[in-house]
Amino acid sequence: MGSYQEELTAAIHAVRQAARITTAIRKELVAGHSLEKNDRSPVTIADYGAQALIFHDLFQHYPDIPAVGEEDASSLDDPDHAGLKQHLLHFVHQVDPCLSKEDVIHAINRGNHSGGAAGRFWSLDPIDGTKGFLRDDQYAIALALIENGKPVLGVLGCPSLPARDGSDAIGCLFAAAEGVTPFVEPLSRPNAKQLIHASSTASASQSVFCESVESGHSSHRASADIAKTLSTTSEPVRMDSQCKYAAVARGEADLYLRLPTRAGYREKIWDHAAGAYLVQAAGGTVTDIGGKPLDFSLGRTLKANRGVVASNGKFHSAVLEAIESTGI
Ligand code: AMP
Ligand code: MG
Repeated sequence: MGSYQEELTAAIHAVRQAARITTAIRKELVAGHSLEKNDRSPVTIADYGAQALIFHDLFQHYPDIPAVGEEDASSLDDPDHAGLKQHLLHFVHQVDPCLSKEDVIHAINRGNHSGGAAGRFWSLDPIDGTKGFLRDDQYAIALALIENGKPVLGVLGCPSLPARDGSDAIGCLFAAAEGVTPFVEPLSRPNAKQLIHASSTASASQSVFCESVESGHSSHRASADIAKTLSTTSEPVRMDSQCKYAAVARGEADLYLRLPTRAGYREKIWDHAAGAYLVQAAGGTVTDIGGKPLDFSLGRTLKANRGVVASNGKFHSAVLEAIESTGI
């Protein structure tokens, strides 16, 4: 397999564009105005804006690579959403003034591919961790390239994550691809790259694990049982979005547990492709809770998998055994 440097450069550029729009929306719409509890318009505009900018950018370079994106623009046609559309355009134009309304809708709708085992396609979650975005907490722009059912490139833009590079910079971009060693760079300083790798923590009892903030997305009760079985003493680090994968990939956490809360939920490929690829490229291990590799070849969901375990790879089987013994 050759190097994917060119595709990675394009993906990083696209994610950086998207981080500009999501950051601007957070600042102006969320912080500036008092947000009604149920007003999801900032996240809606940010979701659409990020997907539009990324797909518009990528399709200029790669018109023949289809895309699976979380969003589609159908609800924007609703006359009730005219104001939302106007707002969306206002923010898109801050990043790329050349895009027309039609370009924006067209770019968003490029994400309608069904995925599968054949050929190449992009996978995008324009704002992973929407609850974190609204809480002014962690969220991620998650872009992957999948080839013949397997991720070969992953980029995570994490605009609220501390850079941990000795500065007090906030906002990181993580990237990895076949033939390219995984690295992180601050969103504010492109090209200030640092290589990353998973931690060397050797035992589960000493591990730091992370999980969703939302107990509806991953069972906190089950993770507490598993931590007890493994004699893990540290408190879980709760974080929204694929920033959890980033934490494992840069050795800040040793383990990420995603434990099903209900039978029948199918994980979405865009919630895992970029992050799981990054952890594996950084030397870690990613499986589902039964120990099976995540199968990205089956369409828009991971229908052959249940939950996720992402670790530094040093004590993965002990975690799987603990999960089995607690009988989730
Ligand atoms: P997180 O920020 O890690 O809690 O994950 C956010 C993602 O959880 C969203 O992008 C949703 O697609 C996904 N999600 C929604 N409902 C569930 C569920 N019941 N179980 C697992 N993930 C879910
Ligand atoms: Mg998501």
